[in-house]
Amino acid sequence: MTEERRDLERYDRQVRIEGWDQENLTRAKIVVVGVGATGCEVAKNLALMGIGKLVLVDNDVVELSNLSRQMLFLDDNLGEPKAIVAADRLRKMNPLVKVEPIFDDVRNLDESIFEEADVLVSCLDNWPVRRWLNSLAVALNKPLVDVAMEGFYANLQIVIPKKTACLECHGEELMPKEMQLAECTLRRRKPEDLVQDLKQAGIEISLKVAEKLFEHDIKTVYDLKYAQESVLMRLDDKTLKIVREIREKLRPKLPALQSVAAMISGLASTEIAKILHGDKLGEPIKGLLVYDGLSGQFTIAELERSPDCFVCGDIVEEGLTITVKPSETILELKKKIAEMFSIPDPEVLYREWRLSDDKRISELGIGEGDTLYITTSRRFMPLQLRVRISEGDGP
Ligand SMILES: [Zn+2]
Repeated sequence: MTEERRDLERYDRQVRIEGWDQENLTRAKIVVVGVGATGCEVAKNLALMGIGKLVLVDNDVVELSNLSRQMLFLDDNLGEPKAIVAADRLRKMNPLVKVEPIFDDVRNLDESIFEEADVLVSCLDNWPVRRWLNSLAVALNKPLVDVAMEGFYANLQIVIPKKTACLECHGEELMPKEMQLAECTLRRRKPEDLVQDLKQAGIEISLKVAEKLFEHDIKTVYDLKYAQESVLMRLDDKTLKIVREIREKLRPKLPALQSVAAMISGLASTEIAKILHGDKLGEPIKGLLVYDGLSGQFTIAELERSPDCFVCGDIVEEGLTITVKPSETILELKKKIAEMFSIPDPEVLYREWRLSDDKRISELGIGEGDTLYITTSRRFMPLQLRVRISEGDGP
């Protein structure tokens, strides 16, 4: 048999599906972020279906407690980077697929990796990075397939930028509230506060370590959990090792079940095949699909795209504004921004300067119509806010 015939025979049963065009898959490039339970399943499905190129991004290594679900890993792989092990396995499952593993935090990657992709898949286990990836998908106008699960429950949302709701459109209802509240309590912090907060979580660090972390803007437990890899890389080796150990201890250990991962990932992979076919295999699911394994029921909650969404809404193009008083400090402004947009770690930039907390708007010469750029680990691009100076508050 010639090589080409063999390749065709591999996909023989799926090309028999009405409307299926294998070319749509073989020329596609898909980035899967997170190679845990759902990431393994999605990547396996896409590899078997014959996607042209898969990019697998994960900054974790294989642990014993992963093996009951993360089906691309074996006992022999304990301690090895998930992305690399998964790529090796997938190449064996389908040698026709190109697989590129990236053992890194997704937020460190070059934009070009995403620009070349046809679909981005989020198989992450935490909201901060899911939000970051959502903002990137919208900014680059790439379809995003977001998969999440916990215990017997799982959900799936497909974001077609500017057409369907993004993850932030209904963030107030869909993102865990207690987290938003906890994250929004910004205050003037001291290294002692961090030592104390960690103590409450059962973790001891010295004041000296806390002071070192502060020098790198790691001031809260959330900063410790979610600080970008680029920030961590500036720490000295000893402090970095301590941070990695703390992160491991702080990592939530959610209940999870392989069969639920397989179920939701199967649905997600089918949707990806549909997206790659344009509308020839039917339209992707609109809204939020929720699977409840206990009752055995699926529900699709309708989600409309919100014109007021600060990530994908029309309001972004019109320009978001923020009203400030001349006497207001940057810390007060940060608090306001944290509450408005539910971002726990805003940094305010004006004419490329990062503004320090104790400065006042009037001192900085910020005036009506000026633009402030807000950077946060929850967004790929800075948030742009046009300044409106409120009346009745003299300098
Ligand atoms: Zn949105």
